[in-house]
Amino acid sequence: MRDVIVAANWKMHTTPADAGDLAVTIAARTRVAGVTRVICPPFVCLAGVRDALATADPEVAVGAQNVHHELAGAHTGEIAAPMLVGLATWVIVGHSERRRDAGETDAIIGRKLGRVVDAGLRPILCVGEQLAEREDGRAVAVVEDQLRGALADHEPERLAAAGMVIAYEPVWAIGTGRNATGADAAAMAEAIRAALAGLGWSDGGDGVPVLYGGSVTSVNIGEFLSEASIDGALVGGASLKPDEMAGIVARAGLTAAARGLAA
Ligand code: PEP
Repeated sequence: MRDVIVAANWKMHTTPADAGDLAVTIAARTRVAGVTRVICPPFVCLAGVRDALATADPEVAVGAQNVHHELAGAHTGEIAAPMLVGLATWVIVGHSERRRDAGETDAIIGRKLGRVVDAGLRPILCVGEQLAEREDGRAVAVVEDQLRGALADHEPERLAAAGMVIAYEPVWAIGTGRNATGADAAAMAEAIRAALAGLGWSDGGDGVPVLYGGSVTSVNIGEFLSEASIDGALVGGASLKPDEMAGIVARAGLTAAARGLAA
């Protein structure tokens, strides 16, 4: 049975002075059996969050929000995957804000994925369509292209062994207060697994957790987690609010219990 995962993407919020305390508060409010929790603070807060959680709640994993596609070199201001080892155990790759702000292509995202796996870290690969693409009926085709572009050069077995997670995040739903319906997200999760099957995943992508992301809150999380093909959420804005995280993870706990993960 696939893990139930709630990953917090703090984006460009918090400072080294306050991130550890926020992580500890959220950890204390989200101790729910069977739910894998991940907090992804800005790079400069990774060490503080790691240290704070090491004593408060080592079961909460720490993730980075990005990584460079090269291993080392003349790339001022960038962070390579080996530098994250010891600071984080998860890494988000291909977030739509990076596709938008840094012009990341599927090919670059595919290279990042390789660096994450080579470093022994667990990737969360983000995919999702723009509003116009959904309105044109091309949402599935766009996400299939993103998957093909990022995954084509990777052995499915290697990504599966690394525990790769896919986050379906329709771009029009991120930070907008507008979310997909549970049924649309579930249909996309099924399309994602079909695409993995087409890329040679021997289990048809059945073992790959698919998260939904896009304006998830404690109020709407149930709509997504009542879908069998959805395994959790990547949460942005609401992940900075302990009350919201408490509600989201509590609901995820019900799904974990129903899946027999909460023992
Ligand atoms: C995200 O950061 O991936 C995200 C989905 O943000 P928000 O929950 O704020 O829409």
